[in-house]
Amino acid sequence: MILGIDIGGTTTKLGLVQNGQVIARSRLSTTGHADDRAFADALAHEAIELATSAGQQITAIGIGAPNANQLTGIIEMAPNLPWKHDVPMARMMADRLHVPAVLGNDANAAALGEWRFGAGHGIDDLLVVTLGTGVGSGFIVNGRLVLGSAGNAGELGHMILVPGGRACTCGRKGCLEAYVSIRGMLATYAEAASDSTQATGAPADVKTIADRANEGDKAAVECFRRTTEWLAIGLANAVCATGPRRIVLFGGIARNGELLMAPLRERFHATLLNIYQGRVDLTVSALPDDDAALLGAAALGTLG
Ligand SMILES: [Zn+2]
Repeated sequence: MILGIDIGGTTTKLGLVQNGQVIARSRLSTTGHADDRAFADALAHEAIELATSAGQQITAIGIGAPNANQLTGIIEMAPNLPWKHDVPMARMMADRLHVPAVLGNDANAAALGEWRFGAGHGIDDLLVVTLGTGVGSGFIVNGRLVLGSAGNAGELGHMILVPGGRACTCGRKGCLEAYVSIRGMLATYAEAASDSTQATGAPADVKTIADRANEGDKAAVECFRRTTEWLAIGLANAVCATGPRRIVLFGGIARNGELLMAPLRERFHATLLNIYQGRVDLTVSALPDDDAALLGAAALGTLG
């Protein structure tokens, strides 16, 4: 039985996965442990309790985490995690539970999850893009997840889209992530609102922008128009690199249904290079929200 582990900034989730379903689950706090070793001890303890109570034996572990390097098995100074140094989490869990463990970054885990269990099932040339606080991506090419020479391939969010544009969290300017992430959309709304005579107050989240767009708020409609334009260009550029058969969008922003997808499909197909026309489709994750990260982590575990 594969154990999937999703390490997040505040909560770490565990799930036993069988045939694409999470059959037992638990969680523990990521914070409040003396150090990374104490966290790994608590995590291993939780895993054993989970397996015992489910009457199952863990045979492999997959771990999804931010800033995780699949080639080295190390979480590299993740800004949102409590440990400000490199943490060899794959080895720490393999040592404690005596089974193979594979660590991967959360975007790659999402890509593998969609490929094995979700909207990309059976599609061996797949691009999965996560749209949330940041923009992550995982590329599956010729039936393999692309890792690159140092294990850090597939940073679509940091492709520069607008020379000299908005400041990005990476320290550069004009990255896709600065435009189509949650923060990017809030900034776009503010720009669109200042361009119009309308004053509805700053929205706190993307759901508020979506609600306002559905009510006809001009700045919100314009925000979605600009966001879909930028995202369409980013995706069409990515297609030129690896020629995917399908693109799956994942994460909070992708859950806005046809408000996002209808104009995005239109702009994407209008922007796509002619040789790819009719050869790539665009869809939204089919995995249940609560289980997607665990299923992705478990898919990593199948690589071990
Ligand atoms: Zn960037």
